[in-house]
Amino acid sequence: MRRFVYCKVVLTTSLVWVLVDVFLLLYFSECNKCDNKKDHSLLPALRAVMSRTHVAPGEMGKAVVIPKDEQEKMKELFKINQFNLMASDMIALNRSLPDVRLDGCKTKTYPDELPNTSIVIVFHNEAWSTLLRTIHSAINRSPRHLLLEILLVDDASERDFLKKKLEHHVATLEVPVRILRMVQRSGLIRARLRGAAATRGQVITFLDAHCECTVGWLEPLLARIKEDRRAVVCPIIDVISDETFEYMAGSDMTYGGFNWKLNFRWYPVPQREMDRRKGDRTLPVRTPTMAGGLFSIDRTYFEEIGTYDSGMDIWGGENLEMSFRIWQCGGSLEIVTCSHVGHVFRKATPYSFPGGTGQVINKNNRRLAEVWMDEFKDFFYIISPGVVRVDYADVSSRKALRESLKCKPFSWYLENIYPDSQIPRRYYSLGEVFSYTADKEIRTDDLCLDASRLNGPVVMLKCHHMKGNQMFEYDAERLTLLHVNSNQCLDMPSEEDKMVPTLRDCSGRRSQQWILRNMTLSV
Ligand code: UDP
Ligand code: MN
Repeated sequence: MRRFVYCKVVLTTSLVWVLVDVFLLLYFSECNKCDNKKDHSLLPALRAVMSRTHVAPGEMGKAVVIPKDEQEKMKELFKINQFNLMASDMIALNRSLPDVRLDGCKTKTYPDELPNTSIVIVFHNEAWSTLLRTIHSAINRSPRHLLLEILLVDDASERDFLKKKLEHHVATLEVPVRILRMVQRSGLIRARLRGAAATRGQVITFLDAHCECTVGWLEPLLARIKEDRRAVVCPIIDVISDETFEYMAGSDMTYGGFNWKLNFRWYPVPQREMDRRKGDRTLPVRTPTMAGGLFSIDRTYFEEIGTYDSGMDIWGGENLEMSFRIWQCGGSLEIVTCSHVGHVFRKATPYSFPGGTGQVINKNNRRLAEVWMDEFKDFFYIISPGVVRVDYADVSSRKALRESLKCKPFSWYLENIYPDSQIPRRYYSLGEVFSYTADKEIRTDDLCLDASRLNGPVVMLKCHHMKGNQMFEYDAERLTLLHVNSNQCLDMPSEEDKMVPTLRDCSGRRSQQWILRNMTLSV
């Protein structure tokens, strides 16, 4: 199929290139069979000519452009997987990609004796070309002795080509690929648990089913685990465009965090982490959380640290659960900046969540909050009304795990691993919507009450932690919130203020009295 599309493009370009193409094809297949030590002096020159003048769709990670008259069809196909399936199907399963690593990474050397890995890929109704490109890129760009096997876990997919056809295809590959099938839809978490339990490698590497591994991706991950078996490591996750399949390098200057709603988010790597690495960007970044799709972990450590919470359904929350657990229980979570793997980020999920998306995610998040976040779970609960009514089933075994591993409290995590968290480590009060923090901000998530004008309304702006217009002094006797900069008090909204709280001269009247709940300093 792929060859067919490729040739069609070639033919429409020029016949000469067909000949070059055929020649190259023969040359490559010849090369695959030989011992790779032969001097293919003609090859680089030919490749260079090819790349300048004629290239198949998507080569070198380029964007695929769909002709106008195919765009209706493209839009239809998009709906199946929530990415441009037509573009993906046009791209070679072993397409070339740019080397996006930092220069310092390209010259790094690694020990000869690295642990080997099993790759676990779970999928539910994945497209053929993206799944196979994940597998081919992993095989082609991993040293053979380091990649022991690939385990595919089919989470009850309903597509024919993922059955016999897939089995036949993977049987031809040079790395052993096993396919496990879930009897019923179980979700990413339980499917990964099934795959992990069947692995034999020293390290387990989890990948999503729509990834592309780039040159040198594996060695730095394994080398870091060899150095410290309790290091759980993620590559930099590059972006494969869901619209064009263009390959775009991810940044080594962002790391994982989360907000009050427990959504995973990328944030800039703070200065303290740059300082710890003495400015060497090729060293691993200690990250508070991980995105979850792609990481490597020592297989016995995965067991020791409590694998995944099997009480979580389908998808969501498991990445933060694992992140908190690793840090709180003595491990470390790192982004290995010399390792790059691409992932198709999509804007919507193509599959349904049995039981409803919100229900499932809320349940998973509640399990994570109840087990790991101690009193800080309240930040999640106040910003997600209704979540406290969601049944999260029994978490006693996860709490027992936390006990037996003697894990540290969440306050330790915030203090030592994630001091720049959106959740204030120290706060005086947590009310219906806002918290009153030890920095004297009135804050919800990453937004702070900010007043810049005398007698003016207040607004919510991004917290800057510089006090100034965002500092309010609470007077526990008069119950007033004094805006220090303007020396005015926060006043209740009235009709003419369009229901926005406003600064007014302090008068002691009722509308300037604010009762802060649970007014204590939490440490
Ligand atoms: N997945 C699965 N079962 C599910 C949901 C997801 O096996 O019920 C797989 C999915 O095919 C993918 C991985 O889990 O390989 C992660 O899901 P997805 O890519 O949708 O998550 P995202 O990357 O958007 O976070
Ligand atoms: Mn994904």
